[in-house]
Amino acid sequence: MKNDIERVLVDEAVIQKRLDSMAKEIEKDFPEGPVVVIILLKGALVFAADLLRRVPRQLSIECLNVASYHGGLESSGQVDFLDRHFPVVKGMHVLLLDDILDTGRTLAAVAKRLKEEGAIAVHTGVLLAKDKKRAENVQADYVGFEIGDEFVVGYGLDYKGRYRNLPYVGVLKLSAAT
Ligand code: 5GP
Ligand code: MG
Repeated sequence: MKNDIERVLVDEAVIQKRLDSMAKEIEKDFPEGPVVVIILLKGALVFAADLLRRVPRQLSIECLNVASYHGGLESSGQVDFLDRHFPVVKGMHVLLLDDILDTGRTLAAVAKRLKEEGAIAVHTGVLLAKDKKRAENVQADYVGFEIGDEFVVGYGLDYKGRYRNLPYVGVLKLSAAT
């Protein structure tokens, strides 16, 4: 698996150190009261597990499966909710976690739905944000690392279902992208 990586972009120790400071920001920002964390599967799984263990406050965890359809000739993408039930967020402060902010469509669509479902406030956190113009005018409240506009894998992020268990974020070799 390691042989498929062209270069490491964010090293394991650097990620872990950054999570300490992100957790402190979150801990400081969130008011007392019920907080629900929404983890977008599967990409945010590894990031969320490491981050949330550093946040020493009462919270509940929910997971959401969404599919986003990008590209084509359309300028607006579509995000589908795949779960039969949507988590109950009415009257709650929500922390929405995803692996990476790319076009912004996923976070925008999920944040909108959370507000429609009655969330008091939605804060968003991502491990990575690509430095590019986004289709949606979204920013994350907590960003681990800004990266260039290139395809990355590892630490939850996959290529064809693989590489999620790499402990770092890296760029795939062209030869592995088959
Ligand atoms: P957005 O809706 O912001 O365009 O897309 C976010 C989703 O696209 C992420 O949750 C992730 O699943 C996927 N994605 C975007 N960029 C990358 C990337 O560089 N690598 C991987 N593995 N997934 C990405
Ligand atoms: Mg994703």
